[in-house]
Amino acid sequence: MLQQVNGHSSGSDAQGRESLREDLQEFLGGEVPLHQLDDLTKVNPVTLETVLRCLQARYTADTFYTNAGCTLVALNPFKPVPQLYSPELMREYHAAPQPQKLKPHIFTVGEQTYRNVRSLIEPVNQSIVVSGESGAGKTWTSRCLMKFYAVVAASPTSWESHKIAERIEQRILNSNPVMEAFGNACTLRNNNSSRFGKFIQLQLNSLLVPRDHQMTGAAIQTYLLEKTRVACQDSTERNFHIFYQICKGASADERLQWHLPEGAAFSWLPNPERTLEEDCFEVTREAMLHLGIDAPTQNNIFQALAGLLHLGNIRFADSGDEAQPCRPMDDGAVRTSALLLRLPEDPLLETLRIRTIRAGRQQQVFRKPCSQAECDTRRDCLAKLVYARLFDWLVSVINSSVCADPASWTTFIGLLDVYGFESFPHNSLEQLCINYANEKLQQHFVAHYLRAQQEEYAVEGLEWSFVNYQDNQTCLDLIEGSPISICSLINEECRLNRPSSAAQLQTRIESALAGSPCLGHNKLSPEPSFVVLHYAGSVRYHTVGLVEKNKDPIPPELTRLLQQSQDTLLKVLFPADPEEKSQEEPSGQSRAPVLTVVSKFKASLEQLLQVLQATTPHYIRCIKPNSQGRAQALHREEVLNQLEACGLVETIHISAAGFPIRVSHRTFVERYASLRRLHPRAPPDPHSPSPDEGHSEGSPHAEQATLRALLQDILHTLPALEAATPAA
Ligand code: ATP
Ligand code: MG
Repeated sequence: MLQQVNGHSSGSDAQGRESLREDLQEFLGGEVPLHQLDDLTKVNPVTLETVLRCLQARYTADTFYTNAGCTLVALNPFKPVPQLYSPELMREYHAAPQPQKLKPHIFTVGEQTYRNVRSLIEPVNQSIVVSGESGAGKTWTSRCLMKFYAVVAASPTSWESHKIAERIEQRILNSNPVMEAFGNACTLRNNNSSRFGKFIQLQLNSLLVPRDHQMTGAAIQTYLLEKTRVACQDSTERNFHIFYQICKGASADERLQWHLPEGAAFSWLPNPERTLEEDCFEVTREAMLHLGIDAPTQNNIFQALAGLLHLGNIRFADSGDEAQPCRPMDDGAVRTSALLLRLPEDPLLETLRIRTIRAGRQQQVFRKPCSQAECDTRRDCLAKLVYARLFDWLVSVINSSVCADPASWTTFIGLLDVYGFESFPHNSLEQLCINYANEKLQQHFVAHYLRAQQEEYAVEGLEWSFVNYQDNQTCLDLIEGSPISICSLINEECRLNRPSSAAQLQTRIESALAGSPCLGHNKLSPEPSFVVLHYAGSVRYHTVGLVEKNKDPIPPELTRLLQQSQDTLLKVLFPADPEEKSQEEPSGQSRAPVLTVVSKFKASLEQLLQVLQATTPHYIRCIKPNSQGRAQALHREEVLNQLEACGLVETIHISAAGFPIRVSHRTFVERYASLRRLHPRAPPDPHSPSPDEGHSEGSPHAEQATLRALLQDILHTLPALEAATPAA
């Protein structure tokens, strides 16, 4: 049963009355200053402008969290607010009889999910979807929630179990600095931008200590690491943090061993002079140790990374003769990278400069010198291949260190920290994947919250006019539908393996999908492109290089070369093929079907949604108050764009028009029935049962009538209550 009043905590009468007074004041629409409005459903009227004004007033008052119906809005303070994340405050939310009565906070969400998984009646796995644009605070929020669970879910009974619990929680927390060192980078929009998506399942166990769940492990899944960053960075951005950490934090001996003399210049290491908080090598090393990555293995990893930096310094010069391979401009870089990656030098050079092709009936092997641009591409591809495998391997090592035995956990809380909706002047396959993921998550939100809530009203027989919401199925059909969609067309181009131009791809998409209302009108654009009307705004995707990116081709010679490495780590990352089958690049049309980037991403997204669908979801929308990362500055336009992009007003409308607080019939009657004593009982309505009788389960209509009667009574009681309660 749903009611449009807040519950209040039991306690002393005075406290109870005070709390009730607040409830009723709110309910009756009493004037509350904007900055004290804890829930955006209470702004009146609900428009982008009023929501913004409320958030602005709260931000000015250093209040960063606000409820928006089922969603929590988190404004990035861009300054340290230690008291907001102290273990004491975590415990306060954990101990509160009704945490939702405390100030809105991520700990309310944390505690609610924790209580839900502990429910003895119906424990349900929980998930928290943290969204927002780059720099809005998703990773910060996820980290804080992990710390929250590490505090509240560590309530062991014995010293021995305490030791175990501490170890596993600490290890889980230690996964953060490691993953961030290898997967985050300084970008224009965020000094510590996650360049991958992450879903972490915190596994909880109730078998040993019923009702007292402990975190027993975690499982991490990552999505779409931006591996191109290893070999290609914008001049204003940086490579992954780990490269800077090594260069700045290595000891003198390590510098010698890894060939990283002080002040050495690396072309894949732009802006080395910028020092960030995230550059702390010691923190990463320490965390790796806790995760079971010992010093020799770490040494191996850092040496290989130094090898990649030297690889990036290899430059080629055209030989001037098509039949002759390009010349390396600096033999030193080739030698050092071969040394550090423990690869044979000549085959390394040969692989970078010469393509092998098998052709003809006899499948003869031809060797074709690459152009200078092709050599560069192969060099970059080699680095991306090593880095991506290293990242995946690290995730698997972390998982094996923190993942609990399936028999030792019963429920989980999932935390999803994925890139938000992106729209840049130039958008390519990465943005298509990211925005596709956001469409999927939005659909999940719509299905789970907006639709489910309205259906619940219908079942309960509440008076309700259905609020229309934007269903983004049409857009998803355009992107991923069958038989024809943007993804299928891009994949088909890859499968056909024919030289296709960017303009051709644009034409194919626009003619085959012309009927879709989500395919935007493509005004004259100097570059081949197509426009998708996403729920969060329209995005123009450029088709140049799209098919190639989707193929993500790895010349087989590169893998074969890496299989020759004598380095123990590279041997693990690139195990030798069991059958020494020949892998030269075939020249003909008949290629084995390739698993494209889009296909892989789609499969992992579907898996993620399956997991999410089996949980009770909670949503945190992070908002970035300004793009400069300044404290105490809220830029209206920037915030408006974000509010619009996440469809917040629509969400609030449904929550506001509906019943934002859900109190069970029994709780409501128990909590407020005593107030009837203050007011003479109205003559009983023969058609509706009395509230006291309402304790028993009745039909939804009967319960509603009971509650209405009770509410009327309480409203009549208000003057007496006012008189009895001294003004504050
Ligand atoms: P991206 O999508 O680029 O990974 P993000 O949404 O994960 O971005 P964060 O890295 O979490 O963004 O936050 C960006 C920065 O904002 C943090 O490095 C930190 O400096 C600051 N920040 C975020 N949340 C808070 C907070 N609650 N208190 C103080 N500072 C914060
Ligand atoms: Mg992040």
